Amino acid sequence: MYTVAQLVGGVWGAGGDGGELVVRDPADDQPVSTVPVATADEVGKATQAARNVAAQWAATAPAERAAALHRAADAVEAVVEELAAAVTAEMGKPLADARGGVEAGIGTLRQYAELAPLRGGRTLNGDPDALDFLTPQPRGVVAAITPWNDPVAVSCGLLGAALVTGNVVLYKPSERTPATGWLLARALDQALPAGVLSLLTGGPEVGAALAAQEVDVVAHVGATATGRAIATAAARTGAKVLLENGGSDPLVVDAGVDPQWAAEQAALGAFANAGQICVAVERLYVHREVADDFVAALVRRAEALRVGPGRDPGTELGPLVDRRHRDHVHGQVAAAVADGARVRTGGEVPPGPGAFYPATVVTDCRHDTALVREETFGPVAPVVVVDSFDEALRCAADSPYGLAATVLTPSMSHAQRAWRELPVGTVKINAVFGGAPGGAAHPRRASGQGFGYGPELLDEFTATKAVHIEAPGGGHW
Ligand code: NAD
Repeated sequence: MYTVAQLVGGVWGAGGDGGELVVRDPADDQPVSTVPVATADEVGKATQAARNVAAQWAATAPAERAAALHRAADAVEAVVEELAAAVTAEMGKPLADARGGVEAGIGTLRQYAELAPLRGGRTLNGDPDALDFLTPQPRGVVAAITPWNDPVAVSCGLLGAALVTGNVVLYKPSERTPATGWLLARALDQALPAGVLSLLTGGPEVGAALAAQEVDVVAHVGATATGRAIATAAARTGAKVLLENGGSDPLVVDAGVDPQWAAEQAALGAFANAGQICVAVERLYVHREVADDFVAALVRRAEALRVGPGRDPGTELGPLVDRRHRDHVHGQVAAAVADGARVRTGGEVPPGPGAFYPATVVTDCRHDTALVREETFGPVAPVVVVDSFDEALRCAADSPYGLAATVLTPSMSHAQRAWRELPVGTVKINAVFGGAPGGAAHPRRASGQGFGYGPELLDEFTATKAVHIEAPGGGHW
């Protein structure tokens, strides 16, 4: 059982007068963590304390900040197993995936430690007697509000980039993975000057109180509705807002592909992390020519997945994060069935403890079926059969979301059309996951705004200043 503590103004165990939350293991409903809830007053005081140390951290040499981030990465590395176990206990992810998320987070910390000191401004060619240049400066106080689905990797990205560029950070992890956030903050804090990182815990109301503070940046990774509430709050304070929000990523399966291979890709995209990935495959547009064989293969893959608690070695499909989320996912599947869709496998809430939900394949969907239109964030693959690549591309493009899309096709001209025409941040051809290091994209529409990762995230956390220096009296120095 984890007993989470807050970190405010460099002091562990501060505050928590807003009550206590208990997190339960979604595999067996047993209590895992007790968590203090910050009051709005504590959030205000934490913001003030952060503001008090901001100038000092901003004035620290970039190389020194980078060295601190390397030490922070070492400290996280020392607790990889502890962190991975906490992720699995709090949100159910298979342990190997949880470990992978922690290792990805450490890699990101190290990349930012290497990259940040190398980024500078530029000089301008003005009057030869004057000095003109552009220089990036820290923005000041950053509120980082994060989700539960890949809690360490996501948090390391935001925290690492914000800290190494000279900002102080108020970190509010998800109320579903607070012990994970606490373990991470404990490790990072060891390597940082006191007060540079604060940890505030609790539910949406704590996030809302934080987003309403006079901070310089609010960075949120999470649901679209939350992102919009945060943007509204920040409009009142003038804080910059960075949003990496929901998605409803399409998978297009073109004529001429091997249906077996396409089904393997679809299963990976739709069922990994029980579908709880921002870039999970959420809707499938399958060419009629391959649809029957594709669906049969996808059903076989879904039924072959090893289901169990994330802590059991070999588990491929763990539980959903909690029963509330399972009810939501099952409600979406049931509504699709009521609307004429057909469940080919899964689609039933299993008996027993925990928040398990089977890998589910739903056919006879239309493009306007709610299950296809909405983000599901569960292990559900709704299939829409299409008659042409044109139709598939049109449907794939038609969504309130714009995070990522995958197209499986043997045709180079179709691949070219896909990356040019799809209005999303990331396009993948013939692989649902993957991409070169350093990739970063702008999410579109309801999926957010700004760069949420990659080297460009370092720029998001700095503000560029233009400087012009002349000798007094218009003379020479
Ligand atoms: P969420 O928005 O409910 O919660 C995320 C964080 O926001 C939590 O810390 C929560 O306490 C806080 N929060 C909730 N309401 C708030 C409010 N009104 N004001 C301020 N803060 C508030 O999201 P979630 O359920 O934790 O995560 C799942 C969602 O995250 C999915 O929609 C998924 O697609 C998205 N996601 C997106 C990305 C991406 O990179 N685009 C990555 C991971 C997850």
